[in-house]
Amino acid sequence: MGQRMTKENFLISGLVCIVFGGFLTVGGLWAMGFTVGLFGVVFFLVGMTVSRQGSLSPEEVAAWSPEQAPLPDAGRFMYRVDVTLDDPVRSSILCGPCGHLEVVNGPRPPTYRCVACDRPLWDEEE
Ligand SMILES: [Zn+2]
Repeated sequence: MGQRMTKENFLISGLVCIVFGGFLTVGGLWAMGFTVGLFGVVFFLVGMTVSRQGSLSPEEVAAWSPEQAPLPDAGRFMYRVDVTLDDPVRSSILCGPCGHLEVVNGPRPPTYRCVACDRPLWDEEE
């Protein structure tokens, strides 16, 4: 568990892109199908390459990965947030991995790290 992309993620992404690109091509969307398929081939090749070197660091992944490609949700944790509608506004945050329920004052914070297990549940400040 963690933020690291592994070779499996790349291989899966590549296969998804290739299959998706194939569907688009069949559906008559040639340009889009070709582009997605090309991404898939690139993903797949990178996945094959890095599989010999171990996993990439997040920085390396961020440096080259195209933003619009359908990547699997690697390194994310399940959580649930409930925000009260009435004053005083409070947000209850249920951590999926450890089940800890934390109530914070105010609306849902942009970033949150579980106080019980220290897992980063989300980060919207990019
Ligand atoms: Zn937790």
